Amino acid sequence: MTTDHSSPNVVLITGCSTGIGRATAQLLAERGWRVYASARKLETVTDLASDAITPLALDVTDEADCREAVEAVLRPAGRIDALVNNAGYGHTGPLEEIPLEDVRAQFEINTFAPLRLAQLVIPTMRAQRSGRIVNVSSVMGRVVVPFLGLYNASKFAQEAMSDALRMELSPWNIHVILIEPGSVRTPFYTRVAQYTARTLDNPDSPYRARVERALRLTGGQGLFAGSPPEKVAQVIHTALTARHPRARYLATWNARLTLMLLALPDGLRDWALRVGLGLEPSG
Ligand code: NAP
Repeated sequence: MTTDHSSPNVVLITGCSTGIGRATAQLLAERGWRVYASARKLETVTDLASDAITPLALDVTDEADCREAVEAVLRPAGRIDALVNNAGYGHTGPLEEIPLEDVRAQFEINTFAPLRLAQLVIPTMRAQRSGRIVNVSSVMGRVVVPFLGLYNASKFAQEAMSDALRMELSPWNIHVILIEPGSVRTPFYTRVAQYTARTLDNPDSPYRARVERALRLTGGQGLFAGSPPEKVAQVIHTALTARHPRARYLATWNARLTLMLLALPDGLRDWALRVGLGLEPSG
């Protein structure tokens, strides 16, 4: 990354309290990076503090926090080699029943915040004529699944912005890279459950039985238990260090499997998903 081999590469990572963000902070520190590991609650990352890792408070939906976090990296380090936009969550449930304020909140974190942080680091990266912006998306940014439509929409939008940014920033040797995991064993699914519970706890919801069946199959268990977060961290490391990084990395085996659904015509894919998720027969 940096051409100055006397000092380590500098990276800012969001959402390091648990899961993929935490594993990535630890791996990059082990590999000699200077890591700024951020989380919205500082106390959830203070245990990571070391010579290589500086914990930072950063709620990615807060403009002042975003500015201060980028400043907190640039002040001592004088540059920033990489931004890993990892913070995010999955809002599940039938689109008919999701309040619009929840829709906005999902986009604020998964879509708008990664763009805002990119906007804040790009001027420095342009001056350096180097930098990498890694956006942790999902295979759900490529394939739409019932009751995950809001999460899908936020990640599809993140993918579109990343693709555009990649082309816009190419004159300055700034690479924008998408990481697309399938299911990964993190607290992600526990957090997801709170949203699905709104449907399951609503006796009047016409979606209850189908959401329950889909959740039984996809709630982060069994085949969907997925890969460890360290596996995704390794893929992020590859994206940050490859001489010619790809535009997107499918980060887990189940992501590659899921993407195969795109080879099917729409009608057949809808049917395969409805049957696969236990939504047929309906009712
Ligand atoms: P996770 O363990 O739940 O981690 C999510 C992180 O995002 C947490 O650190 C959380 O912080 C943080 N976060 C949420 N809202 C935030 C905000 N407003 N400001 C700052 N941080 C915030 O889940 P994960 O699996 O590692 O997820 C990381 C990324 O991978 C997400 O973008 C997710 O969409 C993507 N992904 C996950 C999977 C999977 O199966 N796990 C699959 C594909 C893609 P708090 O602890 O403060 O809530």
